[in-house]
Amino acid sequence: MSENIILLEQVNKNYQQLAALHNIDLKLSAGEVLGLFGHNGAGKTTMMKLILGIIKAGSGKVAVFGVDPQNKKAWSSRKKIGYLPENVSFYDQLTGFEVLTYFARLKSANKKQVVELLEKVGLSFAENRPVKTYSKGMRQRLGLAQAFLGDPKLLLLDEPTVGLDPTATKEFYTSVDQLKSNGATIILCSHILPGIEQHIDRAMILSGGESVAMGTLPRLRDIAQLPVSIKTQG
Ligand code: ATP
Repeated sequence: MSENIILLEQVNKNYQQLAALHNIDLKLSAGEVLGLFGHNGAGKTTMMKLILGIIKAGSGKVAVFGVDPQNKKAWSSRKKIGYLPENVSFYDQLTGFEVLTYFARLKSANKKQVVELLEKVGLSFAENRPVKTYSKGMRQRLGLAQAFLGDPKLLLLDEPTVGLDPTATKEFYTSVDQLKSNGATIILCSHILPGIEQHIDRAMILSGGESVAMGTLPRLRDIAQLPVSIKTQG
């Protein structure tokens, strides 16, 4: 049986009286891509933060690469994780090249990869400009380059294609497919399904902090558990 890269068992997280996540179970192995769907406030970002160890579960078990992300031992595997938050922001005075070089040091990635990623996301032309001059789409592309640094074994992407044009979106999914075929585990968070479905193995639908459906897309479709709004909203 393959090792779980992510294991969540009966995970609960409350913010004061609000149950942001309720009894969540999830097992993901190497090379699996999960689509995590849900409307605003469903609990997607909270789940990312628990996996990253930014916040602590109220109860239940969280293990990433076999270790509780709250444990100091998890720091050694942190370099293997790429994360793109929603509404990515950077040190605006730095150039795109400087931002990526900074993150490359944290990830033990080299300058060659910085140059290659800037090229890959189509930002070489602007690498010496301060990030404050970048458009929303350029910032998103820089965010993706940052997440891909160090060839992550686990990639957590919150609304990764927001602000990307169709060409950049297509290139992004090509990179996702490549990382998957190299054995990376990936979670793609989104409000909507179109465009993502052919790149994911399974989907989890969160609603009000609960996992209301989990499985392969054909199975979810068969049992008509995909909310119409997630199927179609643009
Ligand atoms: P979005 O797509 O809008 O980011 P989401 O699915 O990522 O939504 P979360 O950000 O995880 O949802 O939020 C889940 C619930 O927890 C929401 O009701 C939100 O208002 C609440 N919440 C999130 N962070 C906090 C916090 N730090 N303090 C209090 N409540 C919070």
